[in-house]
Amino acid sequence: MGLKIFVDFDGTITRQDVGDSLFFRFGGEKCRELVNKELGGEVSTVECFRGEAEAMGRFNVADVDAFIDEQEIDETFRAFVGYCGANGFPLMVLSDGFDYYIRRILRRHELPDVPFLSNVLSLVDRKENGTARARVSFPQHNEECTCCASCKRNMMLTTCAESDVICYIGEGSSDRCPVRYADIVFAKDALQVHCQRENISYYPYRSFDDILRRLRELTARPHLRHRRRAELNRRRAFSEEA
Ligand SMILES: [Mg+2]
Repeated sequence: MGLKIFVDFDGTITRQDVGDSLFFRFGGEKCRELVNKELGGEVSTVECFRGEAEAMGRFNVADVDAFIDEQEIDETFRAFVGYCGANGFPLMVLSDGFDYYIRRILRRHELPDVPFLSNVLSLVDRKENGTARARVSFPQHNEECTCCASCKRNMMLTTCAESDVICYIGEGSSDRCPVRYADIVFAKDALQVHCQRENISYYPYRSFDDILRRLRELTARPHLRHRRRAELNRRRAFSEEA
């Protein structure tokens, strides 16, 4: 039985939602309108992201990179990655954000080897004056689901064996689905409220330091257990896919 750890990126590893703030900064009011429509269920997340990339238009790549480089992360995340590595707990970042900034931020914080799965943002139509446009694509999209652009549930379940104990760490709306399938849940902010409402047992946290301490306690016990309801949800997901 192995412990596998899955972590949301925006707002969990980073202090703020980098995707949202990037689109708001470079795509303006149109992006706020799209996000409101998405929250109201008028457009899907994929449609929202396509519209936001379009709204960015032609931009200066160096400005976008400088904006990304200003983004702060939870400074205890690096020690947490070290703890997982030292104890043989595979850690993977699952994001409904974009590879372009995730890769850049992880590299800048000397964490280039942390694996992640996410949506893809490519720079296209680059000009010599240093400008480009953004093109987005969704390799992890689940056609049968409209709640997210990249399906965290599928990314998580396809990389786990039945015996694995799944730990999920998150904070926002794209984490609501995956926590249903996780044995150990760490939640803060909106996800904490969601877990309370849905009766999903969770540990509150403020930083990765809190999570590290709790995992130390949990893994010191003789057996890590599956959460009964998560196990049933996983079985149901697999039988639906079959
Ligand atoms: Mg998030």
